[in-house]
Amino acid sequence: MIDYLGLEGDLGEEERMVRDTARDFVENEVKPDVGQHWIDGTFPTDLITEMGELGFYAPNLDGYGLPGLSETAYGLLLQELEAGDSGLRSMASVQGALVMYPIHAYGSDAQKEEWLPALGSGERVGCFGLTEPEHGSNPSAMETTAERDADGYVLNGSKTWITNAPISDLAVVWAKVTSADGDPVRGFLVETDRDGVTTNKIDEKLSLRASITGEISLQNAHVPEENVLPGVEGMKGPLSCLTQARYGIAWGTVGAAMDCFETAHEYATDREQFGKPIAGYQLQQEKLAEMATQISLGQLLAHRLADLKERGDLRPEQVSMAKRNNARMAREQSRVAREMLGGNGITADYSPMRHLTNLETVYTYEGTHDIHSLIIGHDLTGIPAFE
Ligand code: FAD
Repeated sequence: MIDYLGLEGDLGEEERMVRDTARDFVENEVKPDVGQHWIDGTFPTDLITEMGELGFYAPNLDGYGLPGLSETAYGLLLQELEAGDSGLRSMASVQGALVMYPIHAYGSDAQKEEWLPALGSGERVGCFGLTEPEHGSNPSAMETTAERDADGYVLNGSKTWITNAPISDLAVVWAKVTSADGDPVRGFLVETDRDGVTTNKIDEKLSLRASITGEISLQNAHVPEENVLPGVEGMKGPLSCLTQARYGIAWGTVGAAMDCFETAHEYATDREQFGKPIAGYQLQQEKLAEMATQISLGQLLAHRLADLKERGDLRPEQVSMAKRNNARMAREQSRVAREMLGGNGITADYSPMRHLTNLETVYTYEGTHDIHSLIIGHDLTGIPAFE
């Protein structure tokens, strides 16, 4: 796929191997059926364990059978998965960055032993419950509560827009612990078969259709003390997970744009109008040139992020910049690719329209474009403009 600036030359052997493995997987196992899954509103659940066997969940972490790959290798993996479909990359991001990461970073030894190998292999599926019906961009106003009882906590509240909730074995739920001195946010490992826990599927999405999204309802759901993530308290918990996932989105969105470019390039070369391929007309060449340029800039941003993350210097605001830019870039370029395909471009036979509608979600979740503008604005000025 497009690599105009020759970034391939900077990759190590392992990074190339990870990228090629993911690319082959997407080409052979995903692309043939993903259009139909998108139309049907289903996720290819048969691929969940195969993705685990291939090491696609949190491979940048180590221990508990995880390989500790470089951040570049991890990014390339997500790039390739999202070239297939944003729903596929969302699966890997949620399982890896939003469920395995908090257990790895903040969990007890027992929690790690119980969950990390099972989630890493795809034998179990997890989801991340932060957003609530009344609190999306401002999750710190969450209303879900955790009240202490004799041997643990009783959870009450509801979470919505939760990727994978209806097919999950485990939900990482963020809730406020009611106490006399403040209500600190804590993370709870909630098995979805517990009494008082229900997960409903949200139907009729017009975006990210090849991904299962749902609600989590918690009605006097009891969890024992050992299900609390012991290593973190406050909004730092969920926000640090979001930084990990946004890092993956910065890479993944570039993959979606790359797939759109390849599709438009091939189509324009084959499709003839007025006696020659449409790629021979200046208007179409300008579109390809702009698309290639914007994708290259997105790739540079993603690679730079990986270097900073690898050496421990990456700031959440820098991740915001890359998530914001690359999601917007992919959203805009997928529209141009769709346009270049003419009438055929609005069908599921070609990927750009599917990517385009998926990217509406990607532009919105994990912090909307607006919210990332405010995060960067706060960083640049020192003045918060959220309220
Ligand atoms: P709102 O916060 O109500 O925002 C509405 C609009 O107002 C947006 O345009 C926003 O940018 C703007 N806005 C809000 N505040 C400000 C402000 N201060 N200044 C200027 N403009 C503002 N959440 C999870 O917890 N787990 C998941 O797995 C998950 N998966 C998702 C999957 C899908 C398909 C979707 C669509 C969402 C998912 N989400 C998930 C939720 C997602 O993160 C939220 O939708 C997102 O944070 C935005 O919240 P909201 O939808 O409530 O919009």
